[in-house]
Amino acid sequence: MKATMRALLARQIDNVKADELIRLGFTLEKLKAKSVSELKTLGLQDVQIEAIHDSRHAIEDGVLVKLLVVNNSTCCRCKESKPFILHHIIPYSKSRDNSINNLCVLCLGCHGDAHTTHELSQNLTPELLREFKKDWENIVQQHRAGEIASSTRVDFSSWDFFNHSKLFALAQKYSVTISDKPNFKLLRSSGILAKDGSLNRYNRWSFQPIHYMYRDMIAMKMHDYHAAILLDVLTKQHVIPISDEFRQSYIHATMNPGDLFSLEAFFRFKNWGEQKEQMENAKCYYKRKRVKIEMIVNRWEATSNSSYSSHLRGSKNLLCIGIYRGGAAVDGVFTFDATCLALGNGFHSIKKREKNYVNERMTYEADDEADDEPDGDIDPPDGDDDSE
Ligand SMILES: [Zn+2]
Ligand SMILES: [Zn+2]
Repeated sequence: MKATMRALLARQIDNVKADELIRLGFTLEKLKAKSVSELKTLGLQDVQIEAIHDSRHAIEDGVLVKLLVVNNSTCCRCKESKPFILHHIIPYSKSRDNSINNLCVLCLGCHGDAHTTHELSQNLTPELLREFKKDWENIVQQHRAGEIASSTRVDFSSWDFFNHSKLFALAQKYSVTISDKPNFKLLRSSGILAKDGSLNRYNRWSFQPIHYMYRDMIAMKMHDYHAAILLDVLTKQHVIPISDEFRQSYIHATMNPGDLFSLEAFFRFKNWGEQKEQMENAKCYYKRKRVKIEMIVNRWEATSNSSYSSHLRGSKNLLCIGIYRGGAAVDGVFTFDATCLALGNGFHSIKKREKNYVNERMTYEADDEADDEPDGDIDPPDGDDDSE
C-alpha cells in the first residue's frame, strides 16, 4: 500500500475517498497547504481536517499497517472489504487514543451505525466492537494458516526442513494435541518419539540416521507427522505474510520478536561454522533491496535426500515459516534475525493470495518494487513520503 494512501487512512479518511484525492493529484503535503474551507469543499470533515493540519492527531504508520494486516483491511463487523475507514472504539475526542487497541476497521455502513446513537437502532457499543474485532482477527489468522496448509497440499511438494526442537516447543506452548497426528503410534513404536511426542535420543531409534535425520521408509512418516504439528501451530497465532511487503517499515510495524511470519523467496545457502556430526549448519539468507534476512539451518534436520543434498544448498525458491527475532541496520541494510521453523518447496505460491478469502479490494502492493525509486524503507517522520 502506498505511503500517501496510508497517510490519508491515518487521518480517518476512508480508502475510496483517499483514492479519489490521490487520483486528483493530492498528496498529504498538498492537502496540508490548503485552508480549512478549501478542504471542506473537497468533502472532508472536521476530524480529518484537524489531522491533516496537525499530524499529532494522525494514527502512527506502524499502528495503521499492523491494524490493516491483522484485519486484512476488512470490516470486522460485516466482513466485507468494501470501502473502509479506521474507527476509534472510544471516540478520539474523548480518549485521544490512537493506539491499536482503540482502533478497528469498519466499512462505511457499519461506521455510520457506530456513530448513531438512535434508541431503536442496534447501537455498536465499544464492547460490541471489541468483540467483533477480536473474532474477526481470529478468523483472519485461521485463514492465513489455512492458506499455508492448502498451499502445501500439492503432489511432490514437501517440507525440506523442520527446526524440530523449536517446533515442538511451540506445540507445547499452544497445547497442540500430539497423539492424533499422523503416524504418532508408528513413530512411538519405532523408538523415534518420546511419550510426549518429542524426538527421542537417536540411540533409542530403530535405525541410525547417517547424513541427515530422516531415513528410509520412515522418512515420509516423520515428515507427515511434523507437517501436521506445524500446520496446527500456525492456527494458534498470527502468521504475518511478508513475501509481498519485504520492507523495513512493514516488518517493523507488523512484528514483535517471537512473532511468526511466512516468506516465499529465493533463499541462498552457505556453509556456516564448524561442520560436525549431527551438525551441518548453513546460513540461509535472502536480500531484497535494503532488507536482508539471515537464519541458520542445520541440514541434519533435512527431511529427505533431495532436501539434504539439493534443496538446502545453492539458491532455491522456498517457503519459509520463521520466528522474528528483531532487526538492526548494518551498513545501511536492515538485517533481521529470525529462527527458521520450517522450509518447504513445490507448494502453490502464497504470494498475493490474500484477496482469495475476502471479496477482493485492498491487497498490499509493495511500494518499493521499482528499482530506481529511492528506498521506501525508512518512513519520513510524518509517514507521508509521496515517492510514488
Ligand atoms: Zn461493515
Ligand atoms: Zn468513527
